[in-house]
Amino acid sequence: MPNESGLCYKCQNKFYTAVVDTCTNCGATTACGGFKLCPKCAKKKNKCAFCGGQLDAIKPPTPPDARLVWLVSLNHDGRQPTEGREAILAKTGEAVDTFKSSLADLLAQQHQPAAAIEILNEMRALGIVVIRCTTSLATAVGKMQGVHAVAENE
Ligand SMILES: [Zn+2]
Ligand SMILES: [Zn+2]
Repeated sequence: MPNESGLCYKCQNKFYTAVVDTCTNCGATTACGGFKLCPKCAKKKNKCAFCGGQLDAIKPPTPPDARLVWLVSLNHDGRQPTEGREAILAKTGEAVDTFKSSLADLLAQQHQPAAAIEILNEMRALGIVVIRCTTSLATAVGKMQGVHAVAENE
């Protein structure tokens, strides 16, 4: 289902900046930064506001054991503008380290081998970790303490 921001199913669960842009079609304000169309034009043209793909395209079913790439965004209180860049980096980096060390416990709880969750990338400055695992494991990761959101990265 196309959502209110005018995004296709692929783009709906990504992370977007709160800064807005202007619609390339009508000049109105877009829902988020980097969007090419405002929600109205996206619906009118049946084009995703972000990638330009078919807006009402339906997501093909994924097998339950398929391994997908997920973006895990971590909770950290490192966003206060009064703090210096170094202090913010220390907090977001710490959140990444804590998350990685808790992964082993999660896998043990789920009776999964350590290789069931693969860490592909760490964006320490942003407090985001990119992992590859099944949907059910990603759901379990989303319930971990310190995890803010888990979104599929397509
Ligand atoms: Zn528009
Ligand atoms: Zn899209």
